[in-house]
Amino acid sequence: MAVMGILGAIKQEVDGIIAQLVNVNTHIIGQRTYYQGTLHGKDVVVVYSRIGKVAAAATVTTLILQFNVQSVVFVGVAGGIHDDVNIGDVVIARDLIQYDMDVSPLRPKYEIPLLNKTYFDTDAQWVVSIQEKLNKRFSKEQMAQAFNAETLAKFGIDTPTIHVGTIGSADQFVGTQAQKQAIQATLPNMLCVEMEGAAVAQVCYEFGVPFMVIRTISDKANHVAGFSFEAFIEEISLVYGEQIMTSLLSS
Ligand code: SAH
Repeated sequence: MAVMGILGAIKQEVDGIIAQLVNVNTHIIGQRTYYQGTLHGKDVVVVYSRIGKVAAAATVTTLILQFNVQSVVFVGVAGGIHDDVNIGDVVIARDLIQYDMDVSPLRPKYEIPLLNKTYFDTDAQWVVSIQEKLNKRFSKEQMAQAFNAETLAKFGIDTPTIHVGTIGSADQFVGTQAQKQAIQATLPNMLCVEMEGAAVAQVCYEFGVPFMVIRTISDKANHVAGFSFEAFIEEISLVYGEQIMTSLLSS
């Protein structure tokens, strides 16, 4: 049966997924623990990639070469960049860009040398099916069941919007208004920023493995991002991780 690789950057993000695994075998390779098991009847390998593009690239390469995964899904948190993207919303990647890559003037800014590519596209049909499932899963009624009202109010979350669009990755936490505005000005279509997705996308593209990145917005990538991020991963991420994976694997 086809095996799916599932990654998250931070412990809290994947704990909710690991808790649902059955028939688990663990393997430690290169300081990562790979949890091989069954999730909702599907064969999966779940792993904390750790943070940043190098960590994510190394981990996804191991998933592909050692565990022979046939598809890869990254779930995690991100900072909202576009003004329409709010805390608690979910962003499904239509494409991903490494927005700290810059070998200009040799090549256009952001282009990956030798690949001659700037954006890595996810599978369009897969995006549509995930968006449908998440719209159902994150309805007002379902949210009220999964969380208590106080927690949602604390983060200003009502009914999350499920966005589809561009996700940007760089080895940088975006946590000032000035950084955010600079990104909005140069890449106005980018919905959110994180630190792993486009690295995973590049490796999967090079190996010909289908990939998906799904990000929950933990902060608005501004001066209070650090505070918001910490609180969100403590109080919200685990349930979002569970909910997203359950929807994804249900047929
Ligand atoms: N708490 C960690 C650091 C987390 S870095 C430590 O102390 O070591 C932030 C993580 O969340 C990254 O994995 C990144 O993908 C994501 N992320 C959330 N908000 C972000 C933002 N505003 N800018 C960049 N990455 C963000």
